Amino acid sequence: CAMHGLVVGDRADPRSGTVPGVGLVHAPISLLPSRLPESFWSQACELAPLFNELVDRVSLDGDFLQDSLSKTRQVDDFTSRLLDIHRKMMDANKKENIRLGLHRSDYMLDSETNSLLQIELNTISVSFPGLCSIVTELHRTLINQYGNLLCLDAKRVPGNEASRQFAKALAKAWDEFNVDSAVVMMIVQPEERNMYDQYWLVKYLRESHGVTTIRKTLSEVEAEGRVLPDGTLVVNDRKVTVVYFRAGYTPNDYPSEAEWSARLLMEQSSAVKCPSISYHLVGTKKIQQELAKPNVLERFLENKEEIAKLRQCFAGLWSLDDEEVVKSAIENPDLFVLKPQREGGGNNIYGLDVREALIRLKKEGGDALSAYILMQRIFPKASLASLVRGGVCHEALTVSELGIYGAYLRNKDKVIINDKCGYLMRTKVSSSDEGGVAAGFAVLDSLYLT
Ligand code: ADP
Ligand code: MG
Ligand code: MG
Repeated sequence: CAMHGLVVGDRADPRSGTVPGVGLVHAPISLLPSRLPESFWSQACELAPLFNELVDRVSLDGDFLQDSLSKTRQVDDFTSRLLDIHRKMMDANKKENIRLGLHRSDYMLDSETNSLLQIELNTISVSFPGLCSIVTELHRTLINQYGNLLCLDAKRVPGNEASRQFAKALAKAWDEFNVDSAVVMMIVQPEERNMYDQYWLVKYLRESHGVTTIRKTLSEVEAEGRVLPDGTLVVNDRKVTVVYFRAGYTPNDYPSEAEWSARLLMEQSSAVKCPSISYHLVGTKKIQQELAKPNVLERFLENKEEIAKLRQCFAGLWSLDDEEVVKSAIENPDLFVLKPQREGGGNNIYGLDVREALIRLKKEGGDALSAYILMQRIFPKASLASLVRGGVCHEALTVSELGIYGAYLRNKDKVIINDKCGYLMRTKVSSSDEGGVAAGFAVLDSLYLT
């Protein structure tokens, strides 16, 4: 891990989130890849370009986004602020001609129905494109070395070029502007223990594409940024043509008005935003739930076969307007997950807490329920795995979540990239409800196709 940059900042070192190269520890990993039948892998890969295209189509329907989130905004300040920016752009008739999406669609294999079901589609700040490629290499190396003993074949571990492909998509977006002196600006949190994952993209942008990246926090953008009359975004006297968000997805990233004005400033500029405010909103859990309603996909896509493929991976999703579903969730809370409009792990409600929360929200009355959606709980089959964290390996019963990265780039009518871009396998002890790696629940893993 150390020799190949499979590292994260160590929580035990207070400077590890701010000073590169200080307080590193290996990323939490699974010792060997987790098994997945090849058919599900193919299915997930096939879905990636379809979801990319769907995000783009939905992003163009500003009224759909505003209407679908109109009740949520009453009770969720964060969503409301995002919608305000989105509304401003609609009122100004702002068009994004060059649109770049770096997405990750996450799935679990439901053991009850033996089907691959989508957990969520992330459109902002998807993490681990840098580190996941190295985990795959590590697993292949281990299998090459010990495979005979383990009866494993390294060829069954699919290749993973997520970091190179994401860097390429960012570089292509940068190319569309054709301004040699311009930079890619990565928006980061002031403290970031996952910085090495991000530096992998910085490295490929420079070495493979000759593109320079600057890293700025939202508050730095507020202090150093301006938009020229022609729309050009300038930060600290450098022209920025692509803004890549690795922060800005959680209310914690906006501690004051300064961060919100930075977000607005960037949105108003002509730089490519990855994601734009519209792409960001398409990735909310509420929109996921709206898209799962009957006849909604048909509003955005024409191809019936593709619509059927997308729908096949949708789990049960309900708005809390549906009194019948709320009632059955109170009766059988274990069959549901209650989700607020948040990202980054650790926010969902499970088990008996679902019942408690629903009863409380009903009592509160008004629109309190609209801050959440209900989702069918997926039950993946557990299997034994060896998890390594902080240099200690332990065996546990685990479940896995497969994420397929996708990149989408278009300039007006021309689709330049619409591809799957490698994968992220995350494995966690089966007794844990949540799944985030950074949040401390899961480890990085890769796939062994069976
Ligand atoms: P976030 O945007 O915070 O990552 P997710 O919807 O991905 O939110 O939920 C976080 C974690 O909770 C997932 O990684 C997964 O482990 C678990 N989870 C989410 N939805 C379900 C579900 N329907 N069934 C089972 N587990 C779920
Ligand atoms: Mg998410
Ligand atoms: Mg998630």
